[in-house]
Amino acid sequence: DMATRIAVVTGGNKGIGLAIVKALCKDFKGTVYLTARDAGRGQEAVESLSSEGLKPMFQQLDINDINSITAAATYFKDKYGGVDVLINNAGIAFKVADTAPFAVQAEVTLKTNFFATRDMLTHFLPIIKAGGRVVNVSSFVSVRTLNLCSPALQQRFRSEDITEDELVQLMQQFVDLTKKNEHKQGGWPEMAYGVSKTGLTTLSMILARQLSKERPNDKILLNACCPGWVRTDMAGPKAPKSPEEGAITPVYLALLPPGATEPHGKFVSDKEVQVW
Ligand code: NDP
Repeated sequence: DMATRIAVVTGGNKGIGLAIVKALCKDFKGTVYLTARDAGRGQEAVESLSSEGLKPMFQQLDINDINSITAAATYFKDKYGGVDVLINNAGIAFKVADTAPFAVQAEVTLKTNFFATRDMLTHFLPIIKAGGRVVNVSSFVSVRTLNLCSPALQQRFRSEDITEDELVQLMQQFVDLTKKNEHKQGGWPEMAYGVSKTGLTTLSMILARQLSKERPNDKILLNACCPGWVRTDMAGPKAPKSPEEGAITPVYLALLPPGATEPHGKFVSDKEVQVW
């Protein structure tokens, strides 16, 4: 019903997303939705948690499918009047050994990590309730990649006046330049995942400023974060952190107490605001 508090996690069927769902089931006062693009994998994850006594709900959500996004947003709006906590965790990365051409890696990686995550924000921010928390799981790689961009690009990504439209154009420009192998002349590093996350961190800062301006009384806090280097299918077995440890900073941002005013529009790692 309309009074139940709702948390939604994308890519919740495994890895850091699953660990975030677990932690929220324990600490979030409300109902936690594990979402996944594949209903079978999602339901299986829900069942594995119920054997631990945790009771998340399930909703299908493929962020690359605009109909899936709008159906989910409509569901949460109609059933609960909106969403209190949204964690955009879903993401992809090509393996280092992958032989797909760089232009393909750039297009496919930006599609999910930047453009599809932006679609999520476009459709979910209007239904985030007052006092809501929005967490975008970016990466420390977003900072490293920012610092490898040309001074002109760095200036735009750090500026307070960059618009969402300008950022979208820049991300599209990167994808287009890779097809002509002209991204280096354009001031971009040879990093598909890195650029996608630089875009996501910048988008988080833009949308946080917009929320402050357009909904100042709603006190929604929106941040980007890094989970750390975490042992998952994406990062492999050699990473130092467990998924549970990787969930700590995203969950900290999701559970910032009522009345908190910061962090907001920041990039956060190990619970600390980082220099951008
Ligand atoms: P995993 O590969 O283990 O999990 C990724 C999750 O995202 C899976 O549930 C996957 O679903 C889901 N996903 C991918 N594409 C979509 C989509 N289109 N719609 C919905 N869900 C989707 O990776 P991690 O747990 O390691 O990564 C989680 C987040 O953390 C990512 O954003 C990643 O970039 C970020 N990150 C990870 C780091 C690490 O060291 N692991 C470091 C820094 C950031 P499916 O099972 O169906 O493929």
